[in-house]
Amino acid sequence: MQRIWSDGPTHHMKPAFLPFALPEIGDEEVAAVSEALRSGWVTTGPKTKEFEQQFSAFLGGGVDSIAVNSATAGLHLALEALGIGPGDEVITTTLTFTATTEVARYLGADPVLVDIDPVTLNIDVTKLRAAITPRTKAIMAVHYAGLSCPMDQILALAQEYGLKVVEDAAHALPATCGGILVGQLQSDVTVFSFYANKTITTGEGGMVVTRDAALAHRMKVMRLHGMNRDAFDRFTSKTPAWYYEVIAPGFKYNLTDIASAMGIQQLAKLPRFLARRQYLAARYFDKLAALPLVLPADAPQGDVHAWHLYVVRLAAGAKVSRDEVIQGLSDRGIGSSVHYVPLHRHPYWRDRYQLTPDMFPQADAAYQSMVSIPLFTAMSDADQDRVVDALQDILG
Ligand SMILES: *Cc1c(COP(=O)(O)O)cnc(C)c1O
Repeated sequence: MQRIWSDGPTHHMKPAFLPFALPEIGDEEVAAVSEALRSGWVTTGPKTKEFEQQFSAFLGGGVDSIAVNSATAGLHLALEALGIGPGDEVITTTLTFTATTEVARYLGADPVLVDIDPVTLNIDVTKLRAAITPRTKAIMAVHYAGLSCPMDQILALAQEYGLKVVEDAAHALPATCGGILVGQLQSDVTVFSFYANKTITTGEGGMVVTRDAALAHRMKVMRLHGMNRDAFDRFTSKTPAWYYEVIAPGFKYNLTDIASAMGIQQLAKLPRFLARRQYLAARYFDKLAALPLVLPADAPQGDVHAWHLYVVRLAAGAKVSRDEVIQGLSDRGIGSSVHYVPLHRHPYWRDRYQLTPDMFPQADAAYQSMVSIPLFTAMSDADQDRVVDALQDILG
């Protein structure tokens, strides 16, 4: 893909701004969405059912997939179905997006933040164990950047203490842990995101996956107003279409058929998307090796890293600051980002739980030195070379 723009009447050509992320949406998605629009069924219906079935099949079957209008909604449904409520504690990492923890607050529960492992940037399991109290009900494992947490250790810990496990797999489609796809592990619920910059997108959307039939039932009911029948069932089953019963004050979290039609096409492209992300990540590893950077941890031998993000950190002794790197990239027409301003630095979480940076030395140090550089399927090798050259220029 060639993206250039003319810089005024001199016809001096300058490369277009290279964003940090961009979805790859082709004619297939456009055709599928058009078909959904013309079908007369735009809300949750046959396309959503098909998307859910195909998602379960992609994961290898034996699980229930429940489409929702965001991963945030899915995380909320998961904690609600697990019975998390006021006074309960849910342990997770400080190096995540606020959606991971805000859902605990929706239910009156308290997230308990834990520092990270400085190599993987995932939750530190030793510190996770130390954070368990009599109020702890669940662990939320966030697979940072698309690298799975050590789920064997986390699941063993959960079993030892009788805790529930929810995986925030917003970055982790598809990733594996011990050779098993995230979504097929022994946790209670796994939640994927189809937000615009994730590994597949429906604009906004998410998928909740569980092998527990009772949890699946509760989440399906709560996804749509606490009604015991969804619209598709009402219009396809033999009981009168107008009749339903409300059994709980549920939410409005269903995914539309318009979005699902897009999701089906994106899912079909996922193997190619993954291959492209793996190729680009390997190329970054190769071309950035000599720079004063700490490159991201790869998945253990035999496992798959989803490469949602490629996060580099400045090595100790680098001559420029993180902010100067971001500015330098921007000056050269390259977008970048930071994942994340850790939760302990956000006013709401900081003030509510009296959190200070010294409580999270690894996450805080990582935050000060990290930059997420462009990684998306539609970027060309030449786009990537621009990023490499710019970093060489800035850091060299
Ligand atoms: C994107 C993201 C979410 C939220 O996903 P939405 O689909 O936008 O609600 C949650 N957790 C993490 C780690 C994310 O990156």
